[in-house]
Order: sequence, then structure tokens, then C-alpha cells
Amino acid sequence: MGEIDTSDNVGTDFIREAVAEDLAQGRYKEVHTRFPPEPNGWLHIGHAKAISVDFGVAESFHGKCNLRFDDTNPEKEDQSYVEAIKRDVRWLGYDWQDREFYASDYYDKLYELACGLIRKGLAYVDDLDEEQIKEYRGTNVPDKNNITFTPPGKNSPFRDRSVEENLDLFTRMRAGEFPDGSKTLRAKIDMASPNLLMRDPVMYRIRREPHYRTGNKWCIYPMYDFQHPLSDAIEGVTHSLCSLEYEIHRPLYEWFIKNCDVFPSRQIEFARLNLSHTVLSKRFLIQLVQEKKVSGWDDPRMPTLAGLRRRGYTPEAIRDFLSRIGIAKTDSLVDIQLLEHCVREDLNKKADRYMAVLRPLKLIIDNWSEGKTELLSAVNNPENPSRGTRNIPFGKELLIERDDFREVPPPKYFRLFPGNQVRLRYAYIVTCTGFDKDPVSGEVTAVHCTYDPATKGGDAPDNRKVKGTIHWVSKQDAVEFEARLYDYLFEAERPMDIPAGTSFLDNISEHSLEVVQGAFAEPGITKIGVGQTVQFERLGYFCKDPDSSDSNVGGKAVFNRTETLRDTWAKIEKKNEK
Ligand code: ATP
Ligand code: MG
Repeated sequence: MGEIDTSDNVGTDFIREAVAEDLAQGRYKEVHTRFPPEPNGWLHIGHAKAISVDFGVAESFHGKCNLRFDDTNPEKEDQSYVEAIKRDVRWLGYDWQDREFYASDYYDKLYELACGLIRKGLAYVDDLDEEQIKEYRGTNVPDKNNITFTPPGKNSPFRDRSVEENLDLFTRMRAGEFPDGSKTLRAKIDMASPNLLMRDPVMYRIRREPHYRTGNKWCIYPMYDFQHPLSDAIEGVTHSLCSLEYEIHRPLYEWFIKNCDVFPSRQIEFARLNLSHTVLSKRFLIQLVQEKKVSGWDDPRMPTLAGLRRRGYTPEAIRDFLSRIGIAKTDSLVDIQLLEHCVREDLNKKADRYMAVLRPLKLIIDNWSEGKTELLSAVNNPENPSRGTRNIPFGKELLIERDDFREVPPPKYFRLFPGNQVRLRYAYIVTCTGFDKDPVSGEVTAVHCTYDPATKGGDAPDNRKVKGTIHWVSKQDAVEFEARLYDYLFEAERPMDIPAGTSFLDNISEHSLEVVQGAFAEPGITKIGVGQTVQFERLGYFCKDPDSSDSNVGGKAVFNRTETLRDTWAKIEKKNEK
């Protein structure tokens, strides 16, 4: 954790400006933020943005950031999500130290604060059910010019209960005297407010559901809008940073803080991250998992941190991406190619190169002696000379990519075809002399070449022009593996923009995963550990998957393609520069 540099968070933006102003005006003495995930799913890259804002702002001002589990929805929450969230925050490189908190630890305090509001005549027990509350609250309607307006709602007939009656009923709600859903505690604010959220919001509901932390202790649970500001205040959070959808909740946030007379936490909203071709909402991600559209939360096609990690993404690449997109006040759609660009840049520096062939075709060097093996030197990472070199075996029979040979070359095809020369990477220049074909299927089964001994290492002493360079592996030394190639889970740029009556699940691409069996790599890949990412030359970056079985006992490795080498974003940037 410690080795990740967090100084990328020290730029300035409207949040840091507001925080600096608050300090300058003496509204707060220090800065204290929190990241408040609900433990009902795994973190996605949108959360990574929130994490980098919450921890980053605190760090910029030498303040603190709490990790607080907002766990007041017992139906959906679970300890396993708590563990997954902690693991992923750590992986991203953030440390909450000893400040790990749970909203569920504040249930007693929250209950007391609710009683305080009742005593002030600012909260009441209502007997209306959920449907009736909705109906009485009213809704936005278009007027005759199609402009939205909000006619006042209707007071509940129970709104004017006495303080004593309310206190008595609320105590009995807690004691379990009433059935689920039969009563609520509501804040008494304004049933005519143009902001529907201010129309006597529900603070507590009765729900007999065991909680993963408090068990059966409670049968009433606080609602988000009541719990969140007060949890912030209890923790002394100065700046409660959240995404834009909470902007309309802010008056309510401030109402609870003011009327409960607690620490004046301040809510500031920022634009949430939206990524093209990506769904970023736990509600929808959980659907992908539960309906088995993906293999799990950590499926490498998922935008979860665990999915990205399994795919080969690094925390550094994700943080670079987050610092490039910055913090904005209005929502926008970020091009996913920028994220891909960031991981390519990072892996280009870090990943060792290997040669591998996804769809092998046999290449026979006819003028190479039978049984002879030569070790050739290859550079591990041209971007990082300290990674050194390695020896790779070369022999009479090689495997090349099926696509690197054509019987009849299309225009501008510089790879192998009868009569043409190519360079075998790190090895020799070879000339294609012919090929074998299966008489029945017509499939090319082997390509024949001769090599030029004077071109060892791939250099032509006579300066002859050889345009194509292809990768290869020695057939007898090659190690078999399974490659998993990925494409966007959603072809649509905005997968949630769907016609009414359809589901975003219908938008899932059929080509998002291609499993390639019978791929082969140079023998060195047996040394690669699970979770390690390498570059297979010309094919892309690949990360060894936990599904790999031990190659020492004849099992096969599985490699996920992180991304190909083709950097579309870099091209777009270059074009824009011109
Ligand atoms: P749901 O989709 O069910 O609303 P969520 O993804 O918003 O869930 P939470 O646990 O509510 O999950 O989020 C925790 C924090 O992360 C919140 O403060 C929220 O504002 C922030 N957050 C969630 N999604 C994004 C996003 N796409 N960009 C930035 N911040 C986000
Ligand atoms: Mg949310």
C-alpha cells in the first residue's frame, strides 16, 4: 500500500477550493471526509472515483478520511461485501488506518436523535402505508405548457399527534408491537415544498429482518436521508463529498443537521463517473451477477475493481485515469478508450515481453538440421533495460500465427506468402518456399521456409528490405495455454439508454468473451504467477488468471487479455494535436 504515490491528488478543483475557503473562514479547523459504501455489492470504477476524491481531498489538507459502511438496509447487506470492499480500497492504494466505521454502530444514537426531533415537535409516527404516503406526497406534473410543476401534497391525518403519543408509539415501534410496514416515523417539514424529498420524509420503517451486524436487536431501521447526515456528524466529518444525484437531498441533509443540533457537516456534490460501453451502478451490476450473465463480480468484463484487477489492470493505471478525468460539477460520459490508454501506458513500462501464438500454424525450416536447437537472446522489456534478456529456443519446427501466412496475399500484406521474406523476431530472416495442404479440407497444415544463417538476430547484413516481422515459438518447447479474449460487454455506447419495456440485459454483446484453446507460448511463461501481467508480442497484454492449474503437474495456464496493443486513444489525441 505504502509504495503507491498519492501525490496525484494534489491538483486543484472546485471541491478543494470550497474546502480551502471553509478553512480560511474558520468554519472548520481541519478536514475530515469519509467514503461511505453500502455493503451490498463490490466496488466499481465509479466508486474508485469517489474513493480518490474522498481520500484525496483529505490528504491534500493533511486531514483524515473514514471508511464508513452505510449499512442500514439489512435485506441486501452482507459481511462478504464488507470484506470485498476493504480489499479493493486497499488494492487501490488507500489506507483508512483505524477509522473503520459502521452506520449500524450508531443505531442507538440515531434512535436518540430521532426522539429528540419528536420532542421538538419535528417528527411524528404515521399510520399511512407506503402507497398512501406516496399518494399524499403528490408528484411532479406537467402543466398545459408542458412545464413541470408540483402541486402541494396533503397532510397525513396523523401529522398532528402529540409529542407524548409520538414518543409512546415510537418506543413501541422499536419494541416490536406493530407489524412490518404498519407505521413509520416521519420528519415534520413541509408537505407543500417544491422539493418532494422535503415533504415529511420517512426516517424509520419497521422491518423484521436480521442485520448482518446487529442481528435481531432492531426491528426498525433508519432511512438513508436521516442516517447519512447524522452519521457524518457523529464522526465529525467536515466535508461529505458525494455524487451529483444527492444534490436534491442536500436541503434535507442540512435540515437534519440543524434540527438535531449536531456537528455541522457540509455536503458537496461532484459529477459521477459515467463510462462509455459500461454500466456503473451496483443495482445493475448485481443483476448481471445474479442472472449469471457474467461469471461473478470479478468477471474480467465487469467494471468492478476486482474484475479490472483480474483482467490485468493496475491500481496505478486506474489512478492515472482518475486524475486525468478530474473532478467536475456536471455529468458527462468518459470515453472508455482513455482508461484503456492508461493501462497500456502503465503496462508498457512494467510488463515483460514473451512470445505466444494464439492460433498456431506449423512452420518448418527446411534447411535447419534435424534435432538442432539454438538459444536466441530476447529483450525482456525494451522500455526497461534493467529487466535484462532471456534465451528462447529455436528449432526446425516452429509455430506461427495462422493469420501471418496467406496462400494468396492481399494488397499491402508483408507477412508470409510463397516467395516472400519475413523476419522471425529475435531469430532469422526466412523465405517462404511452399506449404502443405490437407487434400480433403483444403486447410494449410504447414508452411515451409529456408533461413538465412547470415541474419541471426534478425539483421540483414546486406541491408535488404524485409518489411514484415512475425512472432513464433519453438514447437517442441512450446507450452500450451488457454487465452480469454474480451470485448465490451455492451456494444452500445450508453447501454442504459434503452427503449421503454426492454432490459439493459438485452443489450449484452454476444462477442464479449472468446475462449481460445490450444494457444502456445515460449517455455518461460511457466514462471509467471497468477495475477501477473505480461505482454505477448503483437497480441497484447495478458494477465494470468486464478483459473490456471499448476503447469508443473501438466495443468494448463489461463491468460486473460487485458487489452490489445492498438491504442485508439493515442491516435485520437495525436489527431487532435494536429
Ligand atoms: P447504486 O447504484 O445502487 O445507487 P452505488 O453504486 O451508488 O449504488 P453506493 O454504495 O451507494 O453505491 O456508493 C458509495 C459512494 O460511491 C457514494 O458516495 C456514491 O456517491 C459514490 N459513487 C457511486 N457511483 C459512483 C460513480 N459512478 N461515480 C462517482 N461516485 C460514485
Ligand atoms: Mg448510490
